[in-house]
Parts: sequence; C-alpha cells; structure tokens
Amino acid sequence: MTTTTATKPDTSTTAAWPYAPAPEKTEVEIAPRYHLFINNSFTPPKSKKSRYFNTINPANENTLAEIAQAGPADVNIAVEAAHAALPKWKRLKPTERAKYLFRIARRIQERSRELAILETMDGGKPIKESRDVDLPLVAQQFFYYAGWADKLKFAFPGLSPTPVGVCAQIIPWNFPLLMASWKIAPALACGNTVILKPAETTSLTALRLAEIFREVDLPPGVVNIITGPGSTGEALANHPKIDKLAFTGSTVVGKQLARIAAQRNIKISLELGGKSPNLIFDDASIDQAIEGVIAGIYFNQGHVCCAGSRLFVQESILPEVIAKLDHRLKSLRLGNPLDKNTDIGAINSKPQLKTINQYLKSGRNEGAILHETNGSIIPPKGYWCKPCYFTEVQPSHTIAREEIFGPVLAVMSFRTPEEAITRANNTPYGLAAGIWSDKGAKIFNLATKLKAGVVWCNTYNKFDAASPFGGYKESGFHREGGIHGLRNYVNLT
Ligand code: NDP
Repeated sequence: MTTTTATKPDTSTTAAWPYAPAPEKTEVEIAPRYHLFINNSFTPPKSKKSRYFNTINPANENTLAEIAQAGPADVNIAVEAAHAALPKWKRLKPTERAKYLFRIARRIQERSRELAILETMDGGKPIKESRDVDLPLVAQQFFYYAGWADKLKFAFPGLSPTPVGVCAQIIPWNFPLLMASWKIAPALACGNTVILKPAETTSLTALRLAEIFREVDLPPGVVNIITGPGSTGEALANHPKIDKLAFTGSTVVGKQLARIAAQRNIKISLELGGKSPNLIFDDASIDQAIEGVIAGIYFNQGHVCCAGSRLFVQESILPEVIAKLDHRLKSLRLGNPLDKNTDIGAINSKPQLKTINQYLKSGRNEGAILHETNGSIIPPKGYWCKPCYFTEVQPSHTIAREEIFGPVLAVMSFRTPEEAITRANNTPYGLAAGIWSDKGAKIFNLATKLKAGVVWCNTYNKFDAASPFGGYKESGFHREGGIHGLRNYVNLT
C-alpha cells in the first residue's frame, strides 16, 4: 500500500463510473431570520446580551439564515412556559396525548422532503441519507411513542408511572431532527413538557419541527425550542426548575452535565461518544463485511457516535480485506450533498474539519500509514474530508483511542477470537460493536463478551424506534428508543 494525497480524480475507478449530476431541485423556503420558539410563538430574544448568529451551509459556506441566541432571561422564560404547561398536559387523557403525537408523525411524513432538504443544507449530510434514513426514522419515532402514551402501565407492570416534569434536552449536530425526535417523542408520550436546545450549527430543522407543533395545535408551552451556543445549554441545564436532563454529545460536556444533575439530584440520561470496534473473522462473507465497514464509518461522514471507527480483521484475511476496502472506498462519491448520487457530504463545520485534520496529522506522526485513495475532487468551497483509512495502527496511537467523528478508519488485526475481544474492549467507550462471521454460535458467544450497548451481527448502523440504544462506560448511561426509552421520562412508584 502506498500513501497518496490524491487531488486528481482516480481514473481507475471513480471516473470509470460516471454519473450525470442529479441535484435535488425542490426549492425550500428559508426565512432570513429565526426567533426562539416559546409558548407556541416565534419570539425575539429578550436577554440583554442576546443577538443573532449565522447558520451556514457547510457545503458552500453560504449563509442560510440568522438564528436567535437565547440568553439566561430567555432560558428562564422558556422553562417557565414549560412549567406552566405541565399540569394540564400531564392530566390530559393519554389517548389525547397520543393523538398529538400521531398528528406530528403524519405531518413529518407529509413535509419530509422539505425537512430532508433543509437537514442536508444546514448540516452537510447527503440527501439520500437525510431522505432515506433520518426522516423515516424521525416519523417512526413519533408513531412508535404515540402508541405507548396510553399503555404506560403495561410497560411497567405492577408499578405506577408518573411524568418526571420539565425536561431539558440538549442535542448535537450530527442527526439534528432524529435526535430531537428521540428526545421529544418519549417525553411527550409520558406527559412531560420540554425545552429543547439544538446545536448551534444545525437549528433550522428543529425550528421547522416547531412549525409542525403549531400546525397540530400542540398546547402552548408543551415544547419550547431555544437556540444558541453551548452557554445557552449550560444556562438551561443549571435552571432550578428543570426536573430532568437529557443530553447527546461529547463525553466532556456530558460529564459537566452529570455533575450538575448530581448536585441537584435530578434525573439525567447521557448518550455520549464512542470508538466502536467492527470485527471481521476469517469465516465471514468478506464482500458483505466490506459493505458493513463502509456503512459503519463513512455514513454521515463518520459523524456518528456509534461509528465503527476501529476495524479489527483476522490476520489471515487482512490483505484481502484491505484490497476490497480500498476498491470500494474509491467508488464513493464525495461532493454536493444535495446530489442524489453523493455518498460523502460536507463536514458539518470548520472547527470539526480542523479537529479531523489534527487527527490525520497525529496518525501520521505517530507512525500509522494514511491511505487517501478516494479520487473525488474536493469542491472549491465548503468543508471537506475524503473518506480514508489508516493501516499499521497501534492500540496506543491517538487515532485508535480517541473519537475522531470524521470519515477516518483505523485498521488493525487480530489472531484469535480472545485477542479480538480483548482489543475491542480496550477502550474507555462502550457504545456499539459489529461482528462479521458465518458461525451463529460464535457470534452469540462473542457478542456477550463485548462491552458495548449495541452489538450488530453481520450488519452495522441499523436503527429502529422499537430498539433501545445507549452505552456503557464513557459512552453514557440509560437507553433511548424502545420500551427502555420510556424509563427516562417516568417516575415509578
Ligand atoms: P458538544 O458536546 O459540545 O455539543 C453537543 C450539544 O451540547 C450542542 O447542542 C452544544 O451546543 C451543547 N453544549 C456545548 N457545551 C455545553 C455546555 N457546557 N453545557 C450544555 N450544553 C452544551 O459537541 P461538539 O459539537 O463540540 O463536538 C465535539 C466532539 O464531540 C465531536 O468531535 C465528537 O467527537 C463529539 N460528539 C459526539 C456526539 C454524539 O452523538 N455522541 C455528537 C456531537 C459531537 P453548541 O453546538 O451550540 O455548542
């Protein structure tokens, strides 16, 4: 293998499979300025230090809109709104609460094209992913929890579930709408009210969701959306009238929030980072495994908490796996995220691109070999990172230990299943893992030994509203999704 930093297209593969451009042409209306969503009204921020910040399209750096920054006074107004709405909402007949959730799900389906386009423009992910993965899962989440709203006593037999109260929910930028739905749907189904803080770079779709809440006449104050940077999230987390914190994001911020929750003795659920192992055994179907590896690390530019970023291959098949991986990697098309043929979109933000580039540098400096063999041409503007992989990776290398959150794979090998498990578990994280083998008994045996919240077998990155998701160790605690996801939003007596 050679190290290349290809800037010209690689005619051996990419150019041999030409595609005509197929850009999504539907126009989506974007207002020049967006306010906060409190009590079912879009209201300008009132805090002294409030201002508006730009949200940009990371694929071309064009400004899409200005977004309001909520200061402490706005956070307070939003929390008070959620507080005031709580008594009536929690007393509402559960079948009535379910009707709201069903209506939200249906409106999401009806507006899914617009939402998918906006998600792609604001976040940089390929349209085929926001259209075919994110949006169907977002609608499914509301449908699924609508079904639970009037059946909570069956979810917790012998116990009496009651709502927790006012829930502060802070979400990241990698799956903006999906994370909003993972948090809001179970909270509402259980009779809680919500204040949601989206990530600074991806607020637009959460504000579109706010429009849907108004369209379905959700009572004012039941869901409030406050936009702004980390300091807005911090003010929200520290508000004395919050009964529950739900967070998805970095382990560093997760730990800060855990401290706040411990001091105030409130409920908290954390879904943090990962460095998930994908293990290929010599009896696996290698072609199938390669597809799983590609989906595991290059889906959503690797901005995935459960990305299969460490690939462990049984030594005897390592050359074959690397050759096939390299071949498949070359066929990935990087470019305009709104093009329906694009596989790899833009990196979400300039700071995130800088972080990824630092990891690429550290991998090379520490002795690993970087393979940037994908021949796509980097567009002239925007934030881009070609999908790539490292070989000659040692477990002590930074790229094998830390979450990169980009399209960068670390390839390593193992000899025996015992060694595979030891190496896979050698991480402070424990979110997900993948096993590729033809032997069912071997898979079941190994899956129980992997310290990961989710273990996929002969597949990767598969999600369903009915299936719980969450981590061990520094990947957080509690589960979202499925019946387990209800547990975050009820007190049980
Ligand atoms: P953060 O954890 O900083 O951001 C997640 C959310 O928390 C955002 O809404 C953010 O706001 C908010 N936030 C930031 N600081 C605070 C705070 N002190 N109190 C309350 N809320 C806060 O992640 P980053 O965006 O900075 O990404 C850094 C790294 O984190 C990535 O490189 C990746 O490794 C990891 N990450 C993991 C994710 C996962 O799904 N597990 C998701 C995103 C990132 P704002 O965006 O406005 O700053």
